[in-house]
Amino acid sequence: MSKTLFERICAKEIPAAIVYEDEHIVAFKDIKPMAPTHVLIIPRKPIATLEGATPEDHALLGHLLMKAPQIAAQLGLTAGGYRLVLNNGRDAGQEVPHLHLHLLAGRKLAWPPG
Ligand code: AMP
Repeated sequence: MSKTLFERICAKEIPAAIVYEDEHIVAFKDIKPMAPTHVLIIPRKPIATLEGATPEDHALLGHLLMKAPQIAAQLGLTAGGYRLVLNNGRDAGQEVPHLHLHLLAGRKLAWPPG
C-alpha cells in the first residue's frame, strides 16, 4: 500500500509547518487555511476514517483529542476559543483518507457549517 499524503508529512518526506509532534501524533499548518489559524492534528498511524479505527486505537484517539487544548494554548488561542472539525467520509468533505482534526481559530466561525 502506498503511503498517504499525511504519512509522508509525518515521515518528513513532504515539507510542512509542524507546530507539535510526539510519538503518536503530528500537528501542522494547513496548506490552504480557512481561518487565521488552521492546523491539522493527525495520528501517525494511517487510519482512513473513524470506521477504520479499532479498539486498540482508543488511547490514540483520546490522545489526539486531549492534545488539542495543549496545541491551542501553545498557539495562544485560549482566550477566544477554537473549533475542532473532523470530516469523516465523502459527504463531510473529507479529501485526505487519513484521519485528521482541523483546529480553526482567529475569527468568528459561522454555525451551522455549510
Ligand atoms: P479534509 O478535506 O478534511 O480531508 O482536509 C484535508 C486538508 O488537508 C485540507 O484542508 C487541505 O488544505 C489540507 N492539505 C492538503 N495537502 C496539504 C499539505 N501538503 N500540507 C498541509 N495541508 C494540506
